Amino acid sequence: MARGTWTFLGALFALLLAFAAKALLYVPPAVDLAPAVGVFDTSRALGRLQRILGDQQPHPVDSQASDGVRDRLVNELRAAGLEPRIADTPRCAAYLHTRTINCERVRNVVVTIGPPGGKHLLLVSHYDSNTSGPGAADDGIGVAGMIEIAAILRTEPLQRPVTFLFDEGEETGLSGAGAFLDSDPVAGAADSLINLEARGSDGPAIMFETSRPNAAAIRAFAAGSSHPYANSLSTDFYRLIPNSTDVTVFAERPWTILNFAIIGNETRYHSAGDVLAALDPRSLQHMGSEALGIARQLAIGGTPEGDGTLIYADLYGLFMVSMPLLLGLALLGALAIFFLVAAWRAKAFGRALLAPLAALVGSGLLGWGADMLVTALRPADYWRGHPVVTFTAFYAVALLFSAAALLLVGRSVERERLRAAFWLVFILVGGLVCWVAPGGAIYFLFPPLLAAPAFLWGRGAWALSIGAGLLLFVTFSEVLTAVELLLIDGPYWILAPLGALAAFPLLIEAFPTAQPARRTFTLVPIGGAALALWAAVLFVPRATDDRQQLFTIEYLKDGDRSLWAVSDKAVPLPAGWAGVDGWQLADVPYSGRRRWVAPAPDLPVPPPTIEAAATPDTQGGGRVVRLVLHANGADAVTIRLPVEARLAAAGLEGQMVTPGGNAADPATIRCYGRSCDGMRMELRLLSAAPVEIELMGSHYRLPEAAAPLVAARPANSRPQYSPDSTYVIGRARL
Ligand SMILES: [Zn+2]
Repeated sequence: MARGTWTFLGALFALLLAFAAKALLYVPPAVDLAPAVGVFDTSRALGRLQRILGDQQPHPVDSQASDGVRDRLVNELRAAGLEPRIADTPRCAAYLHTRTINCERVRNVVVTIGPPGGKHLLLVSHYDSNTSGPGAADDGIGVAGMIEIAAILRTEPLQRPVTFLFDEGEETGLSGAGAFLDSDPVAGAADSLINLEARGSDGPAIMFETSRPNAAAIRAFAAGSSHPYANSLSTDFYRLIPNSTDVTVFAERPWTILNFAIIGNETRYHSAGDVLAALDPRSLQHMGSEALGIARQLAIGGTPEGDGTLIYADLYGLFMVSMPLLLGLALLGALAIFFLVAAWRAKAFGRALLAPLAALVGSGLLGWGADMLVTALRPADYWRGHPVVTFTAFYAVALLFSAAALLLVGRSVERERLRAAFWLVFILVGGLVCWVAPGGAIYFLFPPLLAAPAFLWGRGAWALSIGAGLLLFVTFSEVLTAVELLLIDGPYWILAPLGALAAFPLLIEAFPTAQPARRTFTLVPIGGAALALWAAVLFVPRATDDRQQLFTIEYLKDGDRSLWAVSDKAVPLPAGWAGVDGWQLADVPYSGRRRWVAPAPDLPVPPPTIEAAATPDTQGGGRVVRLVLHANGADAVTIRLPVEARLAAAGLEGQMVTPGGNAADPATIRCYGRSCDGMRMELRLLSAAPVEIELMGSHYRLPEAAAPLVAARPANSRPQYSPDSTYVIGRARL
């Protein structure tokens, strides 16, 4: 084999290895074991979190476990020399975009330090957990981080007050943050906010959301951060996906807002796997010291000036670059014109242009096809147990198609033409990305800027092109790592075309253009590697002890109909699983996801009940219904009203709120926690005709008769997002 062929093969495998190993760089800094005074002390913060979580039980809003966590949180705050107060608010609040009203009693823990006057800086986390797990990361990382930050900042010369809000009820509709905003005097005196969150249990603390326009927030972040993980591409994408944190509640305020989260290993999130042992201490230290640095900047250094929108990106936490969005878009436009002219002068519009396009489209199509095929053979999250194998398999597809495009389409095309054509395609892709997420421009500027001089002078072209290719690969590899973590449900096939885009310019440099003979046999080793990886994707275990499969068992009783239900992302259950016959996929009344259901014995679980009395409504012409709710042992109650009831308002007695969403949809009133039982509510209905309502009780446990099902749960699987539960539905007339 000629030397050029060896170089090309070597480049292909070096890039495959780099794709597989890139996530090793996407980590927070090592833990500082002997921090100096004024530096975030991770072991002290972890010790507090361990004491606060106690026996590590789920502690959802208004539960006995939540009382315990709050008491211990208050003790830790006092021990750190702080003076916490508790704001106790029973409330109902309406969702903005759905016809849902949430009711619960939230007890926020609030600490203020610093001088009495001035605008408050707020730090926010939530101490309630999801119903399925102990929430060591979600949001123990925020709670532990904030106590340590408060303990450090209280001894420093703060120029304004800093308030730490440990809220309750984040998991049930951001209720604690809503209660704070509605009724806490500090909310009206605040002008900036740092929120600390988790959607996983490891990885760096990513600053993924800011107030808009973002210039002041990004300048504060840049000034206070020492290991920045933030980019305007993901910030713009986050806005496009339906997701919420406490920041959602505060976002409309004209405040300077920064939102941090860790997102590594989502398989533990909202599950019993979110334990202290799984929380990476480096993640806690990273989030804590980043928030401390920025809080210090905002409370001592002052809020940076600035309006307008910046685009920005970090490089593996080492540093961050930023520039005004308009400058970035203008640069991108100028680069597009430059490379259009360069491609025209190099006569690069034929096969040279076809080669990168074929690599992108081909790897996208083959990646998509492989994804479809494996999904058909292995339904539900086939990547879950060993994601790196799956991701690398997609990158192998990207390299195979890039090599094929160069060998079959780009052969006998001069390197200079290939370069010009690639950068033109790259900038056009950048333009498309900016159409959806303008912040993405930051990733499409610097590599072509570095490559451009080669087309002006022709000297040093090789070195500049290699440099530009390396810069592109390194910056894109970080984006790809973040995409791998963000896309928990796929579609992962997009890694293939993105990988091709990242690798193509380096492959152009390694491609033996001087040997015009067909060298298609070069495709055999990389094609073989791709096949081997896809075979591995089919056969590696679906789940591991660390990365478990979702498997939730439920009992549903609706009148005289009783069912077992299993939520496992539709992985087929073996016939007669757990000694129960007749499993089939069906919809259930408490979730949008289909489940396996089978007949279950009729067990004596009582549904919630109400005592109601209606009086004519003198204002609206309908009626006002006063009711007392009896949970009958349920941990949460859902009241569903038909559209005909025409719900105009509902809430606690004397505190009705107006539902949002579309009046043509049925309305839902939800209540969480102990105070549901005996809760006095008021409903204003515009219809005078009687209606039938549905009352569903959710119990966060299974009846004893479920023991054989629990015992049959596959190894390395557990409930996620909601616990094993009993749902019981009753009806009443209003
Ligand atoms: Zn959370």
